Amino acid sequence: MPPATPENKMSASKKILVIEDNVTNMKLVQLMLNSAGYEVLKAETAEAGIELARQRLPDLILMDIQLPGMDGLEATRLLKADTGTQHIKIVALTALAMKGDRERILATGCDDYIAKPIKSAEFLGRLQTLL
Ligand code: MN
Repeated sequence: MPPATPENKMSASKKILVIEDNVTNMKLVQLMLNSAGYEVLKAETAEAGIELARQRLPDLILMDIQLPGMDGLEATRLLKADTGTQHIKIVALTALAMKGDRERILATGCDDYIAKPIKSAEFLGRLQTLL
């Protein structure tokens, strides 16, 4: 963990909701976010994630695209259409790498897109830019 600078203290107060159904990915992301000083909220389905987003109003949501039931794109559309949650930054997390996917994902209202597998340094850098 880096020494506590004013910037790190700022990140410590930020709350990130992770919506991810894969247990291994969830653990990895939680570990990276916790060691960077973020508070982490977790949901394994889009439905539970939307509920948690409305209740806790996180600063940013990491949204897996492929989820059981409602997918991450539909969840993003709903959150971005709701005046209570539309200000929350949403970063899509996906293994999809086909040409056109980035555009398709950003068109739903996601603020950024991170492809799996996640590389820690790049990942945290992108979040810091958004927060
Ligand atoms: Mn998934």
